[in-house]
Amino acid sequence: MPGRLHYKSALITGAGSGIGLESSLLFAQEGANVLLVDISLDAAKKGVALIEERFPQVKALAFKADVGQEADVKAAVDLAVKEFGRLDVMFNNAGIMHPNDDNALNTEERIWDLTMTINVKGVWWGCKYAILAMRQNPVDETKGLRSGGSIINTASFVAILGAATPQLAYTASKGAVLAMTRELAMVHAREGIRLNSICPGPLKTPLLMNFLDTPEKRDRRLVHLPMGRFGEGIEIAKGALFLASDDSSYVTGTDFKVDGGLTSCY
Ligand code: NAD
Repeated sequence: MPGRLHYKSALITGAGSGIGLESSLLFAQEGANVLLVDISLDAAKKGVALIEERFPQVKALAFKADVGQEADVKAAVDLAVKEFGRLDVMFNNAGIMHPNDDNALNTEERIWDLTMTINVKGVWWGCKYAILAMRQNPVDETKGLRSGGSIINTASFVAILGAATPQLAYTASKGAVLAMTRELAMVHAREGIRLNSICPGPLKTPLLMNFLDTPEKRDRRLVHLPMGRFGEGIEIAKGALFLASDDSSYVTGTDFKVDGGLTSCY
């Protein structure tokens, strides 16, 4: 049976670890050619090696890019189109949580600017170049390939709830991702380009585990999790697969929460 992303091509940022790595593997398993983009070329290459070993039927490539640099984001999209012939799925997933990002009184301007550059401008540029690329997609009805595509932007539960362990710039940046995604979804809906945010809950990936770096900090966060556990990168990847595939053909502009119920609970 063909996979849910058969004949499609995907670009994933932050693909060397966590959500991005799990999504790269899952999208490849579902038949997509995948460009793994990361600021760490070694990490992206390791992901490519895993795909080549497990899913040799698809093409996977690694590319070093800093999503905080517009020229890097453009180069990544150009490479995907050149190598795969089209771009159907753009997963703007790379993001940072600076260890010194704290509350309004302590967060420094340089941390605010860095966080906004990577988490907000990086997503803006990813959307911009993906939209330009998706407008050029050739229609091939025999393969179920219509024009347009799906853009997924990683936000966070902290865009919806205030975090008790504050990280002000990060929280503000993820709120911006939600707002930007909604607006772009409205503007590009009639071009057949869907845009959705995915809002992960707290995960057992390096990003959060480096931040909650003691058992006490982790236990404090666990108290607030309805399921009593951190999520796994693969659980977010499965949500991203739904948004990437035609299973979500009537879904755009949504904030898709994959958070173990966190944002519905007090
Ligand atoms: P992770 O640390 O496991 O992976 C992040 C990857 O992004 C790394 O491979 C890193 O090298 C790469 N990266 C960092 N800066 C980059 C840049 N400027 N350009 C390109 N690549 C860069 O993190 P993760 O948990 O998988 O997080 C992925 C996304 O999910 C982020 O946007 C994060 O904010 C979001 N998120 C994470 C959690 C969580 O609890 N881990 C919760 C909500 C949202």
